Amino acid sequence: MSIIKDESCDILHIGFDDTDSTLSRCTTQLAFKITDYLLKINAKFIDYPLLIRLNPNVPWKTRGNGAVCLRVRAKSHDKIIGYVKQSIEEGSNIGSGANPAVVFFKGEEIPDIIKEFSRVAMFDILSRKQAEKIAKEHLMEYLAFGDGRGLVGSLAAIGCLLHKDHTFEAIAYRKPEYCGTDRVVDILKVIEYSKNTFPNTFNNYDQNYRRVLITPHGPDPVFCGIRGENPEVVVSSLERLELEEKLDGYMVFRSNQGTNMHLQNELKLSQIKAYAAGYIHCKISTKPYIMQGGHVLFEIEDFNGVTCPAVVYEPTGLTTIASKLVRGDIIEIGCGVRKATSKHPKILNIEYLYILELVQIFDTLNPLCKACGKRMKSEGRNKGFQCDRCKYKDRINKKICVLQNRNIKTGLYLPTPKSHRHLTKPIHRYGMEKSPVGLYPESLFARWFYSSK
Ligand code: ATP
Repeated sequence: MSIIKDESCDILHIGFDDTDSTLSRCTTQLAFKITDYLLKINAKFIDYPLLIRLNPNVPWKTRGNGAVCLRVRAKSHDKIIGYVKQSIEEGSNIGSGANPAVVFFKGEEIPDIIKEFSRVAMFDILSRKQAEKIAKEHLMEYLAFGDGRGLVGSLAAIGCLLHKDHTFEAIAYRKPEYCGTDRVVDILKVIEYSKNTFPNTFNNYDQNYRRVLITPHGPDPVFCGIRGENPEVVVSSLERLELEEKLDGYMVFRSNQGTNMHLQNELKLSQIKAYAAGYIHCKISTKPYIMQGGHVLFEIEDFNGVTCPAVVYEPTGLTTIASKLVRGDIIEIGCGVRKATSKHPKILNIEYLYILELVQIFDTLNPLCKACGKRMKSEGRNKGFQCDRCKYKDRINKKICVLQNRNIKTGLYLPTPKSHRHLTKPIHRYGMEKSPVGLYPESLFARWFYSSK
């Protein structure tokens, strides 16, 4: 392990990941506890804590593939590093599925190679070795447990500056004595603040399924999370819930949730890798087929003639529209690559469907009767037509071509909110993306952190 050498520089970036297992705990809650300590020793946060969602197709993720980065200006780096290392070791589910790691970087400017590592971690698979090599080359102190996988997310979180599009989430934490009990929220209050704050909060409630989306369902210590465009709106929405349960506190994270950051890279069908994420311009090359379970399967072809199967899953709510596509329709899809097995090749799991061009389909019909207007019957090849109703005969008329109503429109189709991934950009956020800002926020909203202790 390398040692931090430059003691004169006082910005410390702390990235950590993989502290939880499916059984309990949560990396963001550990971030809440560490932040509480850092604020108590007067460390100055130069940015909100970052909650960075990485490639959602990573097969070994626990839930949402989230990693955390804290950026502080402080004097006593050694004391902080010692405290954080101990917290990660004591606060992780080591041995029960967690492979935690923490990485420290000292300095104002994050090196380009770390930013690039982070960019790729959004859509591809990276190794612990690659992370370790970069950490060593830049004299970064780090600590890893288990198989050390957590290093990938820890380093990627440090390298993610979020200076373009980003969102915020206020996450409220439960006291240990309540964990495992039902989370009680007033649905009407959720619906009300959701309406009042639209479009500045999102994914609060799924109208289609009448389901509250802000509360998780497991035994983890998160009571709820409210997502939105700025720290003020997520905190005030949390307050509007007037929760009865006494909380441990809450913390606002700046995040890439709701930004589609994992779908920014164009995938090439000829070089497609398992677990990758991205988008593809293509056309439909086979008629959509409705599988058992209601999922819709079809083949796509890129503009080099390479084909690949693609599937729209039933819970997305996009299967009706997908089943109306026909060969030749031009689309763009956002997708994740499902690994090939002995039973099937690689398959693209569709996350959004952007219908760009629809082919015209013509039906060939018999002409209408000139006497009564009813559609006529053919008398046989080259024998003309006769009307069933008024018996009018027409030897000269020909079959006519009629443009079929496809009953489908071009445009962007997204899954219903309950099927959104953390990174999915909700439809109303298209056009609301934030423009590049300075390296870090100029100041932080006063009520971004609250602890009951
Ligand atoms: P939660 O959302 O509850 O915090 P999680 O879904 O984030 O849990 P983790 O327990 O953090 O799951 O596991 C994800 C693991 O995958 C971490 O070890 C992380 O370092 C690693 N990882 C993240 N992104 C990549 C990537 N692009 N390539 C390889 N490994 C990755």
